[in-house]
Amino acid sequence: MEIRGIRVWDGERDRGVAAVRWRGDRIEDVAAWDEDRHPGLSLIPGLIDTHVHLVSYAGPDAVDYLTWPLVTPQVEQVLHGVAHALRALRVGVTTVRDLAADRSQVAIRHAFDQGVLLGPRVVAHGLVGMTAGHGDLFTPPDVIDRPPTADGPDACRRLVREYARMGADGIKVTTSGGVLSAGDRNEWRNYTRAELEAIVDEAHALAMPVAAHAHTRAGIQAALDVGVDSLEHATQITPAQAREAARRGVTVAPTLLILERIARGDTAVPEASRAKAQALFAARGEALRRAAAEGVEFVLGTDASGRHMPFGMQLDEVRAMARDLDLGDEGALVAATSRAARAVGMADRVGRVASGFHPDFVVVRGRPWQRIEDLTPANVVAVVARGQVVVGRVADDGTVVAGDPPEAAPATLGMWT
Ligand SMILES: [Zn+2]
Repeated sequence: MEIRGIRVWDGERDRGVAAVRWRGDRIEDVAAWDEDRHPGLSLIPGLIDTHVHLVSYAGPDAVDYLTWPLVTPQVEQVLHGVAHALRALRVGVTTVRDLAADRSQVAIRHAFDQGVLLGPRVVAHGLVGMTAGHGDLFTPPDVIDRPPTADGPDACRRLVREYARMGADGIKVTTSGGVLSAGDRNEWRNYTRAELEAIVDEAHALAMPVAAHAHTRAGIQAALDVGVDSLEHATQITPAQAREAARRGVTVAPTLLILERIARGDTAVPEASRAKAQALFAARGEALRRAAAEGVEFVLGTDASGRHMPFGMQLDEVRAMARDLDLGDEGALVAATSRAARAVGMADRVGRVASGFHPDFVVVRGRPWQRIEDLTPANVVAVVARGQVVVGRVADDGTVVAGDPPEAAPATLGMWT
């Protein structure tokens, strides 16, 4: 297949008007083309969201997000995960990394990779967390049958190995408390140095990168000290920590909108969670802008889970990154494409429009690398994933025919309000 005569931004720079040709799941050629046959349209790489949680309730009703996983069989949960993945795909997110994956996400990944369903590429990280840690406290304390936790270095190594056996692509670890976990505090230490060293050592020995959930300075430092590969949230990052992260190439997913939405009451959560979000939100803008000035490599990571941060809001997050972190239009787009590809270990395959890469593209109205406000669901004209057209149509003569714009993210309904 081929799209001829369209302005191409390749994940790093403006390539001018070009023709993009692909066969199956591989781009064969990106070559200059004389005639602009798609005035006002641009072709950019599919976006990569480095931090999502696919499996949560995906319907329009208000459900209790803490209870739903307990009362819904796993076979049914998987369908919701697929729905979320497809919702993201329709706005142009062609790769997602799930940071609390179990067999559900691995099953979804298999179904998409095998072509059973046309979905985004899924990268699955298994969560290693302590008893009473951020991950554990999504399950109410008196529930007996709970997702796994690990305490002590040996148990941590064992859980990492179990995820490797399951087919996980990487590991997520928590090094501070969190906002939506019930009953903990942001400041709670999650794991000792010995446990974190065991987790990172074991994961790296099995070729699995480690993403660290960390809000607090202490949590961020603990994660940096043991050599994690990415920081998630990094809400209280200091300039010194920012320099260290930049020097080591540790990417940071700032998850801007979810914390803002919870802090402002745009999504209903228990009062304790809202208070935790507000405490973190107050000083975050300044900390992250300073981190950006220190050269931190920010990547798109939304923490989308359907409810507090709906799938389909990834484009809103990219615009927020440009605005709130002073990344600039092109800088925010790099953070959502070629750099995000590196963060998820796929720098040689996705995030760029270049020969040898996978054909994952979005065709949008406007020039988002010059004017990031152009990057909205309403401006999405076509989406190509795994070489197949998901939104819009590509005619035999290489012309893009616009499809219906993907629906904007559904409004979330209140449960506690
Ligand atoms: Zn998360």
